[in-house]
Amino acid sequence: MSLQNPKVGFVSLGCPKALVDSERILTQLKVEGYDIVPTYDDADVVVVNTCGFIDSAVAESLDAIGEAIAENGKVIVTGCLGKRPEEIRAAHPGVLSISGPQDYSSVMSAVHEVLPPKHDPFIDLVPDYGLKLTPKHYAYLKISEGCNHRCSFCIIPSMRGDLVSRPVDDVLREAERLVRGGVKELLVVSQDTSAYGVDTKYAEREWRGKAYQTRMKALCEGLGELGVWSRLHYVYPYPHVDDVIPLMAEGKVLPYLDIPFQHASPRILKLMKRPGAVDKTLERIQRWRSIAPDITLRSTFIVGFPGETEAEFEELLDFLDEAQLDRVGAFAYSPVDGAAANALPDAVPEEVKQERLARFMDRQSEISEAKLAAKVGTIQRCLVDAIDGDLAIARSMADAPEIDGVVQIQNGFEAGLKVGEFVDVEIMGSDEHDLYGEVPFND
Ligand code: SF4
Repeated sequence: MSLQNPKVGFVSLGCPKALVDSERILTQLKVEGYDIVPTYDDADVVVVNTCGFIDSAVAESLDAIGEAIAENGKVIVTGCLGKRPEEIRAAHPGVLSISGPQDYSSVMSAVHEVLPPKHDPFIDLVPDYGLKLTPKHYAYLKISEGCNHRCSFCIIPSMRGDLVSRPVDDVLREAERLVRGGVKELLVVSQDTSAYGVDTKYAEREWRGKAYQTRMKALCEGLGELGVWSRLHYVYPYPHVDDVIPLMAEGKVLPYLDIPFQHASPRILKLMKRPGAVDKTLERIQRWRSIAPDITLRSTFIVGFPGETEAEFEELLDFLDEAQLDRVGAFAYSPVDGAAANALPDAVPEEVKQERLARFMDRQSEISEAKLAAKVGTIQRCLVDAIDGDLAIARSMADAPEIDGVVQIQNGFEAGLKVGEFVDVEIMGSDEHDLYGEVPFND
């Protein structure tokens, strides 16, 4: 019998939710004594965790599967694209097994079949917070899977199903373990964070001797007990989002909301099957700012949705002027295979979509730049992500990893900063995305 552990290669594609799935599978593989290896040559089998969100992600996933088959030959496919097995089999008939997102047990059974485990789980050591693909000081915390909405441009509900929330004590225990393992920032992710717990009827559970509801507000209260940064992503604009703003003002969770508004024309929002009361949205944004003046608002928009007129697009530009959002991502509408919106009439021509996208980004970049410039002269609490020569690369409370800007600390090395450390930084300059500053030294 070989003394070597069986070896698995792993390719992880897709969004933070898929990343969490990858972390769970990798943790289980490690628990069962598999080695995770970085090359196709060394691997006895390769797992590819795919994404199927937009056409380019499907193509990327199919390419990754093809490469793994060419280089290794034994390939297990999982993740969002796994919901469309016929497409995978048509391109790559040789894959060993296909499963959908979050189907950890199917992945493990497929691995067992090709490569039986060889070890005793009681003596192999894995940290109790599991294996993470993010740096040691921040981690994604997945609170639910699936979505009860049916936005007409989105196929996630058909791939991942209706909302299934994890019980709040389970989530808080995982958060606690991550913090024990050195995590300083928790990034709460789901398809729809504000719907958290609806499917459980807000079931009450106990954590640290206190009752908490499985609900966004109670989750934030619990996370606030952990003394690290907690950041809320993918918050659907429901009215009860208002409930967490006071917790942001109290410093329980970061004053940061990633809240996709998608559009500002009531008619387009209706076609998108999204909440359409734009005046109320603007009022609420003002109210949030009066309660938590430092709140950072990040949002996402789609331009060139089918039927969008020039006047409706201009409504969107006016909304940007009024809302003064800090960070904005935008996409030109692109039809996703299987999305209801594809059946809508009056598709916007590609060149018009691109022209609108450019105008949209121009308008917003002026706003984002001015928002950043207003921070020059302030002191911002930052979390150090990396040391790069003399610089420390950090993020303020306003910056989520990967998607927002950074704070470049010019004297980071001299100040002896370390990755994963919090530090107060005096902001001395800004550009369209980033801030520049120094750690003030006391004379
Ligand atoms: S809320 Fe998000 S995940 Fe749910 S259907 Fe809409 S876009 Fe898709």
